Amino acid sequence: MIHRVVFLSMHTSPLLTPGEGTAGGMNVYVDELARAMAARGIEVDVFTRRERPDVADVVEVSSRYRVQHVTAGPLRGVDTADLALFVTEFADEVARRMGQMASPPDVVHSHYWLSGWAAIVLKRRLGVPVAHSFHTLGRIKDLNRRSDDPPEPLLRIATEHEVIDEADCVVTSTPAEAADMLEHYGADPGRLCTSPPGVDRTVFHPGSKMAARWRLGLDGGPRMLYVGRIQPLKGVDVALEAFARLADRIPGLELDVIGGPSGSNGSSELGRLVDRVRELSLDTRVRFRGTVAHRALADWYRAADVLTVPSRSESFGLVAVEAQACGLPVVAARVGGLPDVVQDGRSGLLVDGWDPADHAQALAAVLTDGRLAEDLSAGAVAWSERFSWPATVDRFLELYGGIVARVGL
Ligand code: UDP
Repeated sequence: MIHRVVFLSMHTSPLLTPGEGTAGGMNVYVDELARAMAARGIEVDVFTRRERPDVADVVEVSSRYRVQHVTAGPLRGVDTADLALFVTEFADEVARRMGQMASPPDVVHSHYWLSGWAAIVLKRRLGVPVAHSFHTLGRIKDLNRRSDDPPEPLLRIATEHEVIDEADCVVTSTPAEAADMLEHYGADPGRLCTSPPGVDRTVFHPGSKMAARWRLGLDGGPRMLYVGRIQPLKGVDVALEAFARLADRIPGLELDVIGGPSGSNGSSELGRLVDRVRELSLDTRVRFRGTVAHRALADWYRAADVLTVPSRSESFGLVAVEAQACGLPVVAARVGGLPDVVQDGRSGLLVDGWDPADHAQALAAVLTDGRLAEDLSAGAVAWSERFSWPATVDRFLELYGGIVARVGL
């Protein structure tokens, strides 16, 4: 039986609004998992780095789910790569606070490479069992990065190898991510396990397109949607160039871009996109909406006709699941976990590579063929049913139980 788990999410807090900066799918994932586990009676403490002086040490999010802020490094946002300097300080303080808990955690579950490193420090020192989720991997991000995007730091890649070697279990979101770890990191298959994330169906479910558009103040023309952080890796440039090819062919077509800049080159990327929209004279048809509150996104998915996911790397792609759960067909790049998340030809269309002409062709098919759009919409809802947080929690509890049994032997 699992009674208590500790999550480490050093570089970003589940309390942040996702969609810009360091906050994205991982924040949603950690928050949903923590809530769902606490609802099953498990004590969950999520440790994150304090970025401001005015946050409490402990924030009670819901019954049995707490976010604990740990001082490690400056009390302000720090570039993710520079946080490596403060990992040991972070682990020291987590160890101290774990020592004050009524009982020791059964498992420490770390998220992202920096927290994986902190978890390994705790494991070496205290012998605590460690499960680790990378969410993204340096070597895999580097495979298809745009040529002007800087490579991932070698320290990250070296640390990932160490975490893969030392964690009791490395959790992947899809079989594709597991295959990447075997192929690019030489991981031990015996310590890999796969558990896909879920989607909150009370929020993301089908609804009337007309009503959603009315609530959002949108008109009745065809709409293409992008949702996610803005950085070269996400391929918003591909979405925009694909849109430019469709703008003349599909009268009244508009593109909504939801999300804000993320990473060291996020702001310059957003600037580039805004300039390109001006250059193409598409200012009245491409709208940069900024970030939208997570739950409010459901109406944007319902209001759109197609979601574009042109990522150059994507270990899972929560937005693709959320959109499908709302009945929105997805046109995605065939990369990383997206082929496991989108059922090609049934719930959406997958495109090889990042040539905007190829993405435009697939997007046009959904936007102009009413029968195809209807079939994909129904297929999207059906396919999304396999992703559920309660099922994810079941799988994690089984997995934690396995680690505890193995480490305890
Ligand atoms: N998101 C949001 N508001 C926004 C933009 C994004 O709540 O304005 C959420 C979105 O609903 C999804 C997450 O951010 O849950 C992005 O996750 P995804 O796996 O698609 O991408 P990642 O951020 O992990 O690269």
